[in-house]
Amino acid sequence: MADVLIVGDGPGGLSAGLFLAKNDMDVTVFGQNETFMHKAMLYNYLGIPQITGSEFQEIARKQAEGFGCKILDVEVTEIEKNDAGFAVSTADGNKHEAKYLILASGFEEGLVDKLELSRDSNNDDAVIADRDGKIDIENLYVIGWLTRGQRTQAIISAGEGAAAALSILSIEAGRDIHDFDVVKEDDDDDDE
Ligand SMILES: Cc1cc2nc3c(=O)[nH]c(=O)nc-3n(C[C@H](O)[C@H](O)[C@H](O)COP(=O)(O)OP(=O)(O)OC[C@H]3O[C@@H](n4cnc5c(N)ncnc54)[C@H](O)[C@@H]3O)c2cc1C
Repeated sequence: MADVLIVGDGPGGLSAGLFLAKNDMDVTVFGQNETFMHKAMLYNYLGIPQITGSEFQEIARKQAEGFGCKILDVEVTEIEKNDAGFAVSTADGNKHEAKYLILASGFEEGLVDKLELSRDSNNDDAVIADRDGKIDIENLYVIGWLTRGQRTQAIISAGEGAAAALSILSIEAGRDIHDFDVVKEDDDDDDE
């Protein structure tokens, strides 16, 4: 059983997957690399002057996988809450279970409609979640485009993925967790 399942492989889901895997959680992201990012030309992702959405996705997938995040190329067809946490059924007939579930499935909402989540009628019926993506179902997080309506941006989804991951890491550790790294002496030498 995984620790965390993530539905959606856009910037939100991959960012959550990266932070969780980097901090030794067993995490699986479901998605078929069909995000609208493939239509985007990014000039507004701070720190990257310009990049196509497709290049961004390719780098992001490799970066998350590099830390041990599993990315499964399959559609999620059903989500259930059970005693263990959550069970996710996929189109290949498999079932996956985990304590935590992060919904980062973007604009396509059919799957989550059944969960009857609270919606903001003033913002395209976006799901209402707190700043960590938490809602009133224990251990379920909703992040990214699903919570943003028309006000979606790649950098916001990535940030929300990171926030959900830190929340889960903090709950598991029983204390507030951040993911800080520092420059190593070897890296300093490389710059000279
Ligand atoms: C034409 C266009 C241009 C854009 N240009 C910019 C730009 O210049 N800058 C910018 O910041 N943003 C831009 N955006 C917005 C950007 O694409 C979104 O902000 C971003 O994709 C949101 O990321 P996300 O991770 O929340 O959701 P998404 O990127 O939508 O990721 C969700 C993923 O989940 C997958 N998924 C959904 N349901 C399932 C399921 N049941 N099982 C498995 N996987 C599932 C989807 O296929 C998708 O890959 C643009 C969008 C469009 C349409």
